Amino acid sequence: MFNKRFLVNLKSILTGNLAITDRQKYSVIIYSVALVHLFLTCLFGYFKVKPLFIFNIISVLTYLSCTRLINKDIFLLVYYITYLEIVLHSFVATICVGWQYGFAQYLIAIIPVCYYMCYTMNTKHRKIVIATGSALFAVLAFLSCKVLSFYFVPIYELHLKSLELILYIFNSICTFLFLIIFSLTFVFEMNLSSKQLRHQNAILDKLASTDPLTGLYNRRSMDVFLTQALKSGSSFSVIMCDIDNFKKINDSYGHDFGDIVLREIARITTDQVKGNGYVCRWGGEEILILISNLAKEKVCRIAEDIRRNVANHVFQFDTKWIRCTLTLGISTHDKQDTIEETITKADYNLYVGKRNGKNVVIY
Ligand code: GH3
Ligand code: MG
Ligand code: MG
Repeated sequence: MFNKRFLVNLKSILTGNLAITDRQKYSVIIYSVALVHLFLTCLFGYFKVKPLFIFNIISVLTYLSCTRLINKDIFLLVYYITYLEIVLHSFVATICVGWQYGFAQYLIAIIPVCYYMCYTMNTKHRKIVIATGSALFAVLAFLSCKVLSFYFVPIYELHLKSLELILYIFNSICTFLFLIIFSLTFVFEMNLSSKQLRHQNAILDKLASTDPLTGLYNRRSMDVFLTQALKSGSSFSVIMCDIDNFKKINDSYGHDFGDIVLREIARITTDQVKGNGYVCRWGGEEILILISNLAKEKVCRIAEDIRRNVANHVFQFDTKWIRCTLTLGISTHDKQDTIEETITKADYNLYVGKRNGKNVVIY
């Protein structure tokens, strides 16, 4: 049972990398409780405490039949049966053999179970009310057992001090084990849900900040980066890129081929910029690059590398292939300018490039 795979699975569960299903959870609970009752059946059979012997046989059979309910996902009924059985067993055991054996302790262990089960069950009922009601009733039952044992002598006197100690230890261990298991379960479920939340947030973040076609940052993200660059007070440049005669590519080869060209150019651009800045899809076929803390010459070299790599690239789709070029306008931010003015300057340089035959970098 404790092979390597089991330990790996256990580790994954505790770190929130592996989810266990509700069926598995309830099955483990039910089988553990059934096992405890099986032990008690043997014990009370041996000591001829008939009512508890019969009660425990019924308990074992009830729990075993609960597995059928679990397989049908009827968890609410399983919860009520478990709860009722533990309350009844505490009373019967206290009346039959007395308080000192610690059977009422299971009523303490049942409290986290109430909250856990109520919150994992897919029920429309008010979970907090059911869980708190059940927990309070467990406290009442616990105290009632104590009061009962105070006023009434147990029906069966076992007269075995060592048995009293062994049973007390056994019941205490089981109680604490249940408490530890449920605390661990809470921890693992918390880990799992926070991990899922982080994962979903990362997906949402990506969706909100990138352009789905090219995978580049979108305009909203670029606005944030530009504001950050301005606030930091460091020098930065922007490169405005525009695909040459893109409309013609769309018209001659189709919109799908146009999309492929856009994606490929986005990839080439990001490859050249690397860690030097941010690349965003500014408009339809316009890409804006922000480069911080880099000398004018280096910015021009990056722009030139992008232009050359695009011009040398062969764009392929099915059996068709084409070449395509890019015109780029650069502007370095002046302290007295606004971001908009810096972008307008880059745009103007791009316009100059277009007017001068395209496929050029203008600073
Ligand atoms: P210029 O060299 O002067 O830049 O000419 P151009 O044809 O590239 O410029 P124009 O602005 O006239 O055309 C841009 C075209 O880009 C028009 C539009 O259909 C196309 N476009 C914009 N977004 C997309 C897109 O996501 N996919 C595709 N395939 N085409 C797009
Ligand atoms: Mg264009
Ligand atoms: Mg354009």
